[in-house]
Amino acid sequence: QSMTTNDTIFGKIIRGEIPSKKVYEDDDVLAFHDIHPVADVHFLLIPKKYIPTLADTTAEDIAILGKMLHLAPILAREQGLTDGFRTAINTGRMGRQDVYHLHIHVFGNKPGGEPLKVMLGK
Ligand code: 5GP
Repeated sequence: QSMTTNDTIFGKIIRGEIPSKKVYEDDDVLAFHDIHPVADVHFLLIPKKYIPTLADTTAEDIAILGKMLHLAPILAREQGLTDGFRTAINTGRMGRQDVYHLHIHVFGNKPGGEPLKVMLGK
């Protein structure tokens, strides 16, 4: 698919063609709850600009990438993750990316709950 038509499920969510549980929206980004949460809170933060994967970003995307990372802890806190959370970006086949529209996973359990399982063991 071309860089101008975004036929991914997240493109449809951005255009309002399929519903989502919105966490945050502005001109540049959209955040919405993951349909299959892996923790008490699990949302996805995506650019409205169509960028398939992190590996497709260029220097032109530095501002949007910075904005997304800046927003992640603000939105996490607003969603009740006041004692920490995890961010993840799956990239490409080897990263097991399923939806080819760049997204940051933000997820965690509420304060007082179980910490997430160790992800990167030695
Ligand atoms: P990936 O594996 O590409 O990093 O993550 C894709 C994520 O999108 C998965 O966690 C999956 O549950 C979520 N997802 C897939 N389809 C939909 C959908 O239609 N709505 C929402 N809200 N999340 C979706």
